[in-house]
Amino acid sequence: MRYDVVIVGGGASGLACALTLASARGRGWEWAEGRRYLVLDTDRSDMNRALFKNVPGIPQGTTGRELLERIREQIKTYGGVDFLEDRVVRIDGERGKFKVKTEGEKEFESEFVVLASGFHRFEIECEGVEVVENPRSPKPGRVMIKHDEDYRVRDGLYVAGLLAGGSSMFSVASGIGVQVAINILSEWAGKPIVIHDVPEEG
Ligand SMILES: Cc1cc2nc3c(=O)[nH]c(=O)nc-3n(C[C@H](O)[C@H](O)[C@H](O)COP(=O)(O)OP(=O)(O)OC[C@H]3O[C@@H](n4cnc5c(N)ncnc54)[C@H](O)[C@@H]3O)c2cc1C
Repeated sequence: MRYDVVIVGGGASGLACALTLASARGRGWEWAEGRRYLVLDTDRSDMNRALFKNVPGIPQGTTGRELLERIREQIKTYGGVDFLEDRVVRIDGERGKFKVKTEGEKEFESEFVVLASGFHRFEIECEGVEVVENPRSPKPGRVMIKHDEDYRVRDGLYVAGLLAGGSSMFSVASGIGVQVAINILSEWAGKPIVIHDVPEEG
């Protein structure tokens, strides 16, 4: 099965990335129409253990599990995103012809891949990925993947969230996911874009 973007990890950054990509649909941008996205996830997000009191705009006392579910529902309102619970074990190829392989022996092709699998470890076989100690982690032994100023690891391959070296705060992780989505959309558009909505008049 072929997708435009495969996102590895469905936590704060992976879902924020998927939401922003999906929200480009239905706006009359021909380069965004008909795009298909896949989120592959093992349901081990740090959010599963969190109780949020300091996420801007989110009611205090919202659990991480509730917030994850809310974002997944938000994504579904746009469509174009498939979700699959499976562990990615290997990524081969290059932009336009990535092959993403899972523990469940599924294989997906994709133009872009976003690595959003958190900072606990990185065990996916993937050429061109340099894993280093995460400098913003409060605990030792957490990892990040080296990237350029646009979160690009190499052409077509992006990294988001804590794996990109963000501090372990929901808004930081999800913000990097949004930035990566915007970078991909801007590549398709051939110019910098943003996605803004405004209230209807009247
Ligand atoms: C106990 C606790 C309390 C917290 N409280 C707060 C708080 O009050 N306020 C705040 O702002 N932040 C808080 N956080 C931090 C916040 O939850 C994280 O910063 C955020 O979840 C990181 O997002 P991420 O996308 O980088 O990683 P995660 O959200 O951890 O998502 C990574 C996802 O990738 C998946 N994955 C990993 N490997 C693979 C693979 N090979 N294939 C497929 N999927 C894979 C995992 O299952 C997981 O779902 C808390 C964290 C913890 C642990």
